Amino acid sequence: TIDDHPPEGTPAPEPFVLDTCTSAGAAKDNPFEIARRQLDEAATVIGLDPEVLELLRWPMREMHITIPVKMDDGSVRAFHGFRVQYNDARGPNKGGIRFHPDETIDTVRALAAWMTWKTAVMNIPLGGAKGGVICNPKAMSEGELERLSRSYIRQVGRLLGLTKDVPAPDVYTTPQIMAWMADEYSFMQGHNDFGVITGKPIALGGSLGRGDATARGGIICIREAAKALGIDLHGKIVAINGYGNAGSFAHKLVVEQLGMKVVAVSDSKGAIYQPDGIDYDAIMEHKRRNGTVGGFPGSTPLSNGELLKLNVAVLIPAALEDEITGANARDINAAIVAELANGPTTPKADKILHERGVYLIPDLLCNAGGVTVSYFEMVQNTSGWYWEEEEVHRQLEKKMTAAFSAVHEAALAWKVDNRTAAMIVAIRRIEEAMTLRGWV
Ligand code: GLU
Repeated sequence: TIDDHPPEGTPAPEPFVLDTCTSAGAAKDNPFEIARRQLDEAATVIGLDPEVLELLRWPMREMHITIPVKMDDGSVRAFHGFRVQYNDARGPNKGGIRFHPDETIDTVRALAAWMTWKTAVMNIPLGGAKGGVICNPKAMSEGELERLSRSYIRQVGRLLGLTKDVPAPDVYTTPQIMAWMADEYSFMQGHNDFGVITGKPIALGGSLGRGDATARGGIICIREAAKALGIDLHGKIVAINGYGNAGSFAHKLVVEQLGMKVVAVSDSKGAIYQPDGIDYDAIMEHKRRNGTVGGFPGSTPLSNGELLKLNVAVLIPAALEDEITGANARDINAAIVAELANGPTTPKADKILHERGVYLIPDLLCNAGGVTVSYFEMVQNTSGWYWEEEEVHRQLEKKMTAAFSAVHEAALAWKVDNRTAAMIVAIRRIEEAMTLRGWV
């Protein structure tokens, strides 16, 4: 009713109340507060129009859902999930779906905001979104995961579409999950509509080169950063925190493409150190058999905290948010920190790293190879013409080097750290689109 409307001029409520149905986050800095702090900082540097800033501080649309899933034991469990469409001024909303026990609405909001800046930094015609379901996929059977994935799409499907919002894989979601989701959505539409989601298996309209795209884009950034810094990376050492899709492919590619040596890797269960270099094929086989990199023959165990402090040329955080914080940033001993994870460094840590002269390649740029090849997948799905892998690599190389230069130059021009520079590049492009559309 009309009475439900707040009186004119009533300030909108602050969004930082964690949803009652979420579990974690309380102990950590709220990621959406962090995302907003980064935005505010960049806005201050460039003197952004306050009306533009106010629009960018809010997700434009979000859906909170409760979904029933029949478990293998016959019981029905209610799962909670979200889809946040942050801003689509530059094109359809775009961003992955995470399945994680610690998911909260505010992590999804932050990740959706970061997707918005990321697609703008890459100059691909997309907006930003993110989805999440609070669940522990490691404790679920394949059948339970399939039913959860389909159930999620039955709820959020009404928001999705090639010209509206296009999800993709993220933490603990896979091409198989994308396939179930594309199938469910296609049934909802009454025809095959695989372009609604990216990161699909090749047989269902996926793109060649999508699997390792996040890592490949990050490697291009590391190469360009070394060039800019005048460092020779050949034979130098790397530590990788997180050994999922991004971290493991990064291991393969730093060795293959940059001739570097990976001496330490970690996953959620453990970390290992091997000073003469960890063999990629052997550690992958070990992880496949044992479910963790821990206990790899010939390696020394160490803690994740110790891994972050190793004296290396390149440190690659490739796990979750909040790994490098005010508490450990002074101990980081890397020339280059390449953020393959989303949000691994807090604003406090950003300041410390910048002061100490660590060259940070921010997530918005460093891990944007994934969404860039997702965009190529959308283009291929729309045109029906599928590219050779070399073509994907060639186009990715062009996009990544252009974005790297834009960020590097903005950092020099504005005398700011690389994250703020990336934010500035992004905000300017989004502001232009919003202005042309008449939103501001
Ligand atoms: N989840 C990835 C990211 O955070 C990829 C998103 C996409 O391909 O849409 O960038």
